[in-house]
Amino acid sequence: MGPIQEKSSAAASIRLLISEGMPELPDVELYLSALERRIVGRRLERVRLFSPFVLRSFDPPLGAVSGETVAGVRRLGKRIVLELGSDLFLVIHLMIAGRFQWFEPPPKPETKPGGKIALAAFDFEHATLAFTEASKKKRASLYVVRGEAALRDHDPGGLDPLSIDLAAFSAALTRENHTVKRTLTDPRVFSGIGNAYSDEILHRAKLSPLKWTTRLEPDELERLHAATGSVLREWVERLRAETGDAFPGKVTAFRPEMAVHGKYRKPCPVCGAPVQRIVYAENEANYCARCQTGGKVLADRSLSQLLKDDWPRTLEDWESRRGAPQPAPETSSSGTGPRAPARARRPRPS
Ligand SMILES: [Zn+2]
Repeated sequence: MGPIQEKSSAAASIRLLISEGMPELPDVELYLSALERRIVGRRLERVRLFSPFVLRSFDPPLGAVSGETVAGVRRLGKRIVLELGSDLFLVIHLMIAGRFQWFEPPPKPETKPGGKIALAAFDFEHATLAFTEASKKKRASLYVVRGEAALRDHDPGGLDPLSIDLAAFSAALTRENHTVKRTLTDPRVFSGIGNAYSDEILHRAKLSPLKWTTRLEPDELERLHAATGSVLREWVERLRAETGDAFPGKVTAFRPEMAVHGKYRKPCPVCGAPVQRIVYAENEANYCARCQTGGKVLADRSLSQLLKDDWPRTLEDWESRRGAPQPAPETSSSGTGPRAPARARRPRPS
């Protein structure tokens, strides 16, 4: 791939992220409560596939879930899990553009609920749940899994940021030395935090997204822990109140009430200074220089490189990461500048 092509596909990815954003913990919780009320105790007649690539498992076969009753729904990182009878689970990862639509009563069997962007339809006895993806890049996925042990293989292992105490939070955050922006969104460290809510959390904690985790002072860890819990809880409550009993229709990581995420050049709601941005890999981080970086607008280019170097190459790599993080490398006690983590270096694309 030539540099121009590469640049334009990166720009397209960034536009995609800006237009949608990946559903994170508050969005997934919203879907879970809507689904719980509608499908638990109901029989799943069958799953229809419209885009065969969405199904990433072959054993057990998809047909095994036909006729099973939904025992519960749960969240596994950013994934949504439907628990069925016969020890079966459907694991759904929406990635960026995956969404659900609800049809009750079910549409006629010959129709394709969700239309052109439909990936699959879950036909229940009383309604149909459409699984859609409004993107040319097909990233959303569906797995059929049998047994809790097999389900654990889909768990990235991140801790629940809503219930974690300060000690466990600090230990998890400082186990590896990375930028705090990266560690907050690492699915192996914390469950369900992505680009949008990490921006909001860091803004509330008044911390630079580029602060190295092993250099966080105790008071900064305390602020970050408090901000993580309060931002996520507030958003879960806000989205629930907004949606009420309706099926969630507007699932996006860009919301007008956000302080900095998606607010480049807009005034920070705390201090009025224009919100800044750092574009890197497939992401954009937003922050307020006055509130978070001591008034310093960090040079976009070098920052982008720094964040890029501290990031896996693709979103797929990131979202499929599993297992506990490695212990933090020894940090040097001298010097005050940021220290590039040894593990984060990788060859640049040629
Ligand atoms: Zn500010």
